[in-house]
Amino acid sequence: MGKIVQVKDLVKWYGRTVLALNKVSFDIDEGDFFVIIGPSGCGKSTLMKIMAGILDYNSGELYINGKNMKGVPPHEREISMMLETYAVFPHMSVFDNIAFGLRMLGKDKEYIKHKVKEALELVQMSGFENRSPLELSGGQRQRVALARSIVIEPKVLLLDEPISHVDYMLQRKLMEEFKILHRKLAITFVLTTHVQEHALTLADTMMVMNTGVIEQIGKPDEIYGRPKTVFAARFVGDINLIPGEVSSFTGKEYIVKTEIGELKSAVQNNEPNLVGKRVAYAIRPEFIEVENHVKTIENKLKGKFVRYYYHGKYVECVFSVKGSVEVKASVPPEKAINLQLDNEYTIGWRSRDSILLKKPSVIEGLNIEEVIYGK
Ligand code: ADP
Repeated sequence: MGKIVQVKDLVKWYGRTVLALNKVSFDIDEGDFFVIIGPSGCGKSTLMKIMAGILDYNSGELYINGKNMKGVPPHEREISMMLETYAVFPHMSVFDNIAFGLRMLGKDKEYIKHKVKEALELVQMSGFENRSPLELSGGQRQRVALARSIVIEPKVLLLDEPISHVDYMLQRKLMEEFKILHRKLAITFVLTTHVQEHALTLADTMMVMNTGVIEQIGKPDEIYGRPKTVFAARFVGDINLIPGEVSSFTGKEYIVKTEIGELKSAVQNNEPNLVGKRVAYAIRPEFIEVENHVKTIENKLKGKFVRYYYHGKYVECVFSVKGSVEVKASVPPEKAINLQLDNEYTIGWRSRDSILLKKPSVIEGLNIEEVIYGK
């Protein structure tokens, strides 16, 4: 599979003080559904605007379909961006809005008519040609904006935060539609979001960003199951993080000293030698067993059941261990119902389900909240 987008050491400053992209490098495979996820202000929009050609960068390189994009204007790139603000021209009809890009490209009337019709069908807006955007709902205007960006048959479609501004039911519908449209058009989609559910659901490949840098790139299950940094682990899914220091290695497992006792973690592929290193011991709540089966598994602790949050399919139960560390477990509702607040229970998990996360530059000092939020 070819690389449709290649970004090398891209740097973007706003003025002299804001470094929005700090030497960002990544590739996007042709046909991929590539999702960029990160908190507000991490540089997602900046990156999209640079790819679209509406914003310049300070240094680095950007290639689209093998061509260097330095100085190439937006309409000469094989890329199209649906804007966050649903920028539809209010004084033009739906037809003219969608035809706009094709007219810019100098296409003839018949071709334009045919393509606009096709684009409206794709976004399920057939019959709306003569309406004014002012007569449309927000969702319909967004579809027009979408039709406008796909009508020029780009190789890459950029979607900057297209989902999170609408209500939850519509978000689910939009996600489904983007997935269907991606398959139908068989082009590369690049979508940004700050919502993990959107990223996990839509992405073939995910890129986790944090203030101008890339934390991790991978398939959703890789990032969820094997996050490489504390930030990626926290941003994609819920996770327990317990600070500690690796004291020894048994040949199979690392032993990690933490304030709630020694915890074991099975060695993963290609892990460097961590003995003597400070780490965050990470375990997802769904791997934590309460009472059941705990006899046979490697990590066992006593915890007081202090709080719970009902989520329908599961109940998030919080256990206070040694009065100092809280451990969250996802418990099936039929099991959670038997647990009594303030009682003590045995909780446990397998070594192979835990991950050791190391990032010395930021984990020093090891206040996890500080590590995540940089306070
Ligand atoms: P995101 O899309 O992830 O929310 P942005 O790319 O919009 O992030 O912003 C990245 C950083 O650049 C933020 O610190 C933001 O405040 C800053 N920034 C964005 N646009 C401008 C601008 N036009 N002028 C100055 N700073 C900007």
